Amino acid sequence: MKLPLSHPRYSSLKQRHALVDGVKKGITAPSGLIAFGRGEAFDYLIGEKTTSEARKAEQAAAALLLLAHSPVISVNGNTAVLCPKEIVSLARETNSKIEVNLFYDSPARRKKTVQLFKQKFKTKILGEKPDKKIPALASARSHVCANGIFSANVVLVPLEDGDRTQALRRMKKKVIAIDLNPLSRTSQTANVSIVDNVVRALPNIAFFARKLKRKNKKQLVRILSSFDNKKNLKQAEKNMRRRL
Ligand code: ATP
Repeated sequence: MKLPLSHPRYSSLKQRHALVDGVKKGITAPSGLIAFGRGEAFDYLIGEKTTSEARKAEQAAAALLLLAHSPVISVNGNTAVLCPKEIVSLARETNSKIEVNLFYDSPARRKKTVQLFKQKFKTKILGEKPDKKIPALASARSHVCANGIFSANVVLVPLEDGDRTQALRRMKKKVIAIDLNPLSRTSQTANVSIVDNVVRALPNIAFFARKLKRKNKKQLVRILSSFDNKKNLKQAEKNMRRRL
């Protein structure tokens, strides 16, 4: 179906269509649609645009990725179809690896997701054959690659479940979360919590990464240490409540 560009909900409809298409292709899990619906409700509450709190978190995320010695961007069935191009651009900008990691895991779904990135973007992507496990994590999200998420020191986790964020923190990794729900366990547990739609957040982080690349390590550390995640998250929540 062709969406009219002038439609007031063009972006939201485009995202929904991409996800429905992703389900048909066997990349997105059907429950990914439900998770997206929850995200949309929160997006409505922030006016469907990047807030100043989100922007601050996105800048901190860019600094953290640039400072990392082994950053990895985790990809699930929703992000793979919502913003594959943006994932690849951010990975290139920050020298990050990309790894498929699925809650509703199956070898077929992993393969299709890997193929999507390989064929469309000619990019290397990990996760087709995970060979390690995140300790003390019951879900299939625990299956990771030794040279990817398992050994990463910074992991960007868009649309995550809180369990894995907690497990990654226990492994002493720094976690950047993109989650429209400021109350989720993911947002509450991450080191940098970005309350923004993933389709806006990823290009914003890439924008900051391009800008911050000109800075030296000391300047990047200063940017990062001046960012207070708890305070920023609280403010994001307050702003949402004010809109109700
Ligand atoms: P937690 O375990 O962290 O409390 P949850 O179990 O509620 O999280 P899921 O059911 O996995 O999490 O849902 C995924 C989360 O992703 C939801 O909090 C939802 O708000 C968020 N989300 C969905 N779509 C988007 C999107 N496009 N951009 C950013 N966040 C999104």
